[in-house]
This record gives sequence, structure tokens and C-alpha cells, in this order.
Amino acid sequence: MDIIYRSTRGDKTEYTASQAVVKGLCDDGGLFVPDRFPKLSVELDKLPRLSYRETAYEVMKEFLTDYTKEELLDCINKAYDEKFDDDEIAPLVKKGEQYFLELFHGKTIAFKDMALSILPHLLTTAMKKNKVDREVVILTATSGDTGKAALAGFADVPGTRIIVFYPKGGVSRIQELQMVTEKGRNTKVVGVRGNFDDCQSGVKAIFNDEELKDELDKAGFRFSSANSINIGRLVPQVAYYVFAYGRMVKNGAIRAGEPLNFVVPTGNFGNILAGYYAKQMGLPIGKLICASNENKVLYDFFRTGTYDKNREFILTTSPSMDILISSNLERLIYLISGSDTTKNAALMSSLSSEGKYEIDDKMAAGLKDFYGAYAGEDEVFETIRSIYEKTGYVIDTHTAVAACADNKYKADTDDGNKSVIVSTASPFKFTRNVMKAIKSDDASALKEMEGTDDFVLVDELSGLSGVKVPPAVEEIRNAKILHDTVCEVDEMKETVKSSLL
Ligand SMILES: *Cc1c(COP(=O)(O)O)cnc(C)c1O
Repeated sequence: MDIIYRSTRGDKTEYTASQAVVKGLCDDGGLFVPDRFPKLSVELDKLPRLSYRETAYEVMKEFLTDYTKEELLDCINKAYDEKFDDDEIAPLVKKGEQYFLELFHGKTIAFKDMALSILPHLLTTAMKKNKVDREVVILTATSGDTGKAALAGFADVPGTRIIVFYPKGGVSRIQELQMVTEKGRNTKVVGVRGNFDDCQSGVKAIFNDEELKDELDKAGFRFSSANSINIGRLVPQVAYYVFAYGRMVKNGAIRAGEPLNFVVPTGNFGNILAGYYAKQMGLPIGKLICASNENKVLYDFFRTGTYDKNREFILTTSPSMDILISSNLERLIYLISGSDTTKNAALMSSLSSEGKYEIDDKMAAGLKDFYGAYAGEDEVFETIRSIYEKTGYVIDTHTAVAACADNKYKADTDDGNKSVIVSTASPFKFTRNVMKAIKSDDASALKEMEGTDDFVLVDELSGLSGVKVPPAVEEIRNAKILHDTVCEVDEMKETVKSSLL
């Protein structure tokens, strides 16, 4: 039986998977959720034999039921190919006593590539299937990594355009350069004078603007989202949890069937939600450890049952997690409410009017699969330095938040399960802060770094880690800046209009 997708907020309209991929967000502002969770049909002890692509197919065919086998295989083959610089696609490595699932071997060296290299194919396939003859306009708000990954995924894909908004001054220099040097002819990159939440709220407002929608419809355009709320991003992410589990069995770290924990550096709650979906599919996941940086709104939520975004927004060294509204959490709230759309809608309305909501004890009991932890900035640096000193392995600032959370969880509990740290970015993407962390006990070296160009540091990092500079970084060394638009938060809509009409 086909899986049907509906809103988390009460609209009863039914959508097939491909229709939900095209639509992105529901008309009532809710997120698409499957009407039930399919089970993995492959046996756990067979997982070690599957390649990444085969694993992706096993997962995706269960959720995206109206795509044909040929369509799905075609999307998978186009996405997970030589663009990745490792044959495993998502290699699992052991360093010291910790396991890391490296999700940064794609084109933009961060985990968003795992989903954004396949979304354009799922989307264009879905458009053909549903006879949508509009040009799709992807609007994306990015805290840093989504932007370039979406640009790279959609660049020059026929029938699509993409406009990316990022917080000016809120992303790393390398992240910004990656975006503003994008060559795709159907791309536009805009810096916004505001933070990520401003960008995200701005994009949501544009999506919900009926007048603008009509105007664009007449001009032959239709909006869609590449943000992590699209099920075309969420579903492919479920695959690497299943793949990692298979690799842990293959290397003898666990037996098939044994529970495995995952530690996930979290911002928008998309990555970790995919882990939860994997668990719903029957993958033996023990705890999902939700690792936050100093914007610890999720940590506080897991501890108190109150989600409260009314707090100071902190710019940290893990900018892709500097988020106070974790959009994908809504899908978890919906599930722990017992799929009660009225309850969920009320909580989300409270979030948008008061900036907070509180769940009841019954719902809180549904959070038992999660454990919240967070890492302060000093702890992030200390974690990078100590792992480097002990093992020679260099991790990025986001992964360090998770590695620190892994240590805290192990110290706080007597859970004997093995854990896998989900490693979300290459250290080369955040070179300056990674180097600062490594040299954090050497004041003169730190001082010297202040005037040093990022790309000199990139070479130095390559030397000390023994890892070749990834092509993604090499490419932007001398690339021309092609996008220089900057706007105020309240000018985002005009910017979209003027670029399309
Ligand atoms: C986006 C991102 C995250 C957070 O992922 P969510 O799905 O938003 O929770 C963590 N690390 C890096 C490097 C990212 O780009």
C-alpha cells in the first residue's frame, strides 16, 4: 500500500510522496508526515553486504512509494557518484575509542550534500510524474552549509531556479566564498542583514504570500523548498543511519540486532529526526543523543519540556547549528502528541505568537529515545584539541559539539551501547576555528594566526592532519565573486520578485 503524506497541522488533504516533494510545505503551514512508518524489508544481518546506493534504495523505496524502481535507482545513481571523494560515500572510521560517520565527502564537504545531491533529481522526477509545467523556484534560507549544497545540487538543472538567503556576517569566510562564487546560471545568492532565523522566517513569509504566489504563477513559476523540511531531503538522510549500522556490524563492533546509539550535532533537527525515522523503521537504535552548541534551546527542551526561543541568539564557531527555531522538531512533536494535529497546531501557534510552548507529561514520555546535551565554546575547542593530540584526527567544530556530547553522555549514564558520532563537516570548511582550537594553548601561535589568510591556514591544516585539501576548498581559492546582493530582512520579498519578474 502506498504511503500517504499529510500535514502536521490538520489539513486532511492527501498527497503522494512525489506530490509532497514538489510542494515542500503544506498549505496550512504544517510539515508533510507519512501516514505510517514502513519497516525495513532487508534483514539486519544482510546490511553489511549493501553498498551505500543499495542501502539508500532499501530505505527510499519504503517511503517514496509512488516513484518507480527505475526512477529511484536513476535518482540514486545520479546523486551518489564520483561527486563523492570516497567510494564508501559515507565512510565509518574509528579514531581512539570513538566511531565517526563521515558525511562530508560530497561536493561541498558537509552533510547537507547527502540529501541535496539527490533532492533535485527527486524533484525534477516528481514534476514530470505530476505534469507540473512550471519552472520551480527553490527558495532557501541557510545558516551556512545548506546554501552551497543546494546551489551545487540545483546548478543548471533544467526547469529549476534557486535563490539562497544567508545571514551576512553569520557564516564562515569559506562558506560565504563557496556561495558567492557559484557559477550556475539559474542561481542567485543574497546576503541578509539579520540572523538565520530572520532569513528562515522571511522565506516562510514569502512561501505563505498568496498574492505573490498568484503573480509568479502567471509568470510561469512555482515555489518549492530545498530546506530540510522537504521530505525529499529527510528520507534520503534515513539511509546513512541504516548504512552506518551495517558498517558497525561489518567491522565487528556490534552484532546484528544489538542497539546502537547515535550522537548528532543538531540545529534544525533534520539530521537527528532522520535517525528517529530510521528507528521507527525497525533499525535497532538505542538513544539518539541530541548535541547542541550554546544555542541550547533543544537541550533545555529535553530537560524541561518547554521549548523557548526567547533568548539571546549566540554566534558560535558551529554556525550551521546557530538556530533557535528547529523547524523539523515539529514532526517529532506531532508524533509524541499521538498524531494529534490539533494539539500540534496549538503548540506551533504558541511558538509563533509567544516564542514558546510547553508539552504535557504524556508527550514528554515520548522523548525517551532522546538525550539532550550541549557543548560550550571552550569545550568544543578542547574536544578538537584533545582528539587531535590523542589520535592525529582533526574534526570540525560541529562534529566536536557531538564528540563532546558523546563524552558527557558516557560520563552521565551507565549505558553500555556503542555510539556513532555523526560527523557533519570537513575541518577544512571551518579551518580558522579548527586551527585556533588546535593551537589553543599556544598564545604566540594564536596571535600569529590573526593576520594569516584562511588559505594559508588551509595548507597548514592539510600538513598537520595529513589530509589532502579537498577540491571544494581548492576551487574557491582564486574564484571570482559573482554574487554581491545584500538586503535588509524586509526587502527579501522584493529581491525575489525583481530577480524573477
Ligand atoms: C546543517 C548542519 C548541522 C545541523 O543539522 P540539522 O539537520 O539542521 O540539525 C550540523 N552540522 C553541520 C556541519 C551542518 O551543516
